[in-house]
Amino acid sequence: MERTLAIIKPDGVSRGLIGEVISRLEKNGLNIVAMKMLHMSKQQAEGFYNVHAGKHFFESVTDFMSSGPCVVMVLEGEGVIDKYRKLMGATNYKDAEEGTIRREFATDIEKNVVHGSDGPQTASFEISYFFNELEIVKNSTTIG
Ligand code: ATP
Ligand code: MG
Repeated sequence: MERTLAIIKPDGVSRGLIGEVISRLEKNGLNIVAMKMLHMSKQQAEGFYNVHAGKHFFESVTDFMSSGPCVVMVLEGEGVIDKYRKLMGATNYKDAEEGTIRREFATDIEKNVVHGSDGPQTASFEISYFFNELEIVKNSTTIG
């Protein structure tokens, strides 16, 4: 069974979009098997986005991700990595499809409300960055 890491970023939390995002996950049959709120330090944000170290937006995106609390979640299900990426929409909301979370709520390429792992290896690293196995529900009820 595939897992992915989802984050409601600081802009989503501060704008009151936690319920909106979670509602879309539920309506689309994506199972949440772990969830918590946390406020990353700058160093923790740098560790999380380490794959982007050296890119022109690294400094700014790690400042942003450590600027306030996030909601971090583990989603589980067949093909959940791609299903959730589709629901989020493209990184730049201007390129995102109609009806996606980023198209409807993002305000710029950086403040794009949500994060989702982009593949199985990234998902595994990102989930273990925030959760241990005891914090992930087993045999969860399947919705959708
Ligand atoms: P995420 O990893 O957050 O799910 P993504 O996989 O769609 O987003 P990445 O290329 O991994 O996009 O970039 C990580 C994050 O860094 C983006 O979501 C966005 O917040 C920020 N970012 C990416 N590209 C840019 C850019 N050109 N300018 C400013 N910020 C950017
Ligand atoms: Mg990414």
